[in-house]
Amino acid sequence: MKIVLLGPPGAGKGTQAKLISKGFSIPHISTGDIFRKNISEETPLGVEAKKFIDKGLLVPDEVTIDITKDRLSRDDCKSGFLLDGFPRTVFQAECLDDFLKNREEDIDSVLLIGVPPEFILERMTGRRVCLNCGSSYHIGFNPPKVAGICDVCGSEIIQRDDDKETTVKERIDVYEKSTQPLIDYYDKVDKLFTLDGTKSIEEVFEDVSKHLAQFQVKK
Ligand code: ADP
Ligand code: AMP
Repeated sequence: MKIVLLGPPGAGKGTQAKLISKGFSIPHISTGDIFRKNISEETPLGVEAKKFIDKGLLVPDEVTIDITKDRLSRDDCKSGFLLDGFPRTVFQAECLDDFLKNREEDIDSVLLIGVPPEFILERMTGRRVCLNCGSSYHIGFNPPKVAGICDVCGSEIIQRDDDKETTVKERIDVYEKSTQPLIDYYDKVDKLFTLDGTKSIEEVFEDVSKHLAQFQVKK
């Protein structure tokens, strides 16, 4: 099962990705999580990526494509993967297609989580994340059991630097300009499946699960 998650920042991609990864036993690959881990460990990749992420801009394609290909080349991706936050540009999508074609593979489905702009700011300013395992919470809609602590791994949860209001606005602009064209790109090849991301987390996952059932390998 090879799946791509698409949608504006704050649509719920990371939240659904965790549920899908657990429910369908496929690795969750989030380029944003990879960058944040590198930033917290102050690696050269992290130092470079931070310059762009803090401004709400995309990390350059040449950096992002290489780390994604490396991750997809690991053994755990052989029978499937779930990409969250990649591709974000048409060029990244073309590189992904070429990479998979060389392995005689293809994407099964692209899930677009649709959320109107008026939902986004509240979702993102209330978001708290775990830098250790990538779990995402919301102070109002999806709080952790113990305030400030990740339910999954017990680490501290924090507010992302790029979830401040001004950066969020820039990220929405970048999404509309650079990432939205991917909706057409995947629709043309009949891979797009659109979900109503304004529903509750549980309801969205129910819709996702019904759709993904058709791609499950029968054992
Ligand atoms: P993305 O990965 O698309 O940027 P997240 O999954 O991190 O988005 O979700 C953004 C914020 O919205 C998080 O705080 C999350 O808990 C919350 N959230 C996600 N899905 C829903 C939903 N269906 N209803 C309400 N809040 C949600
Ligand atoms: P996310 O966690 O998906 O919201 O990503 C956080 C930030 O990481 C984005 O705002 C970008 O700056 C950067 N990023 C993540 N994925 C990509 C990508 N595929 N291409 C470029 N930049 C990315």
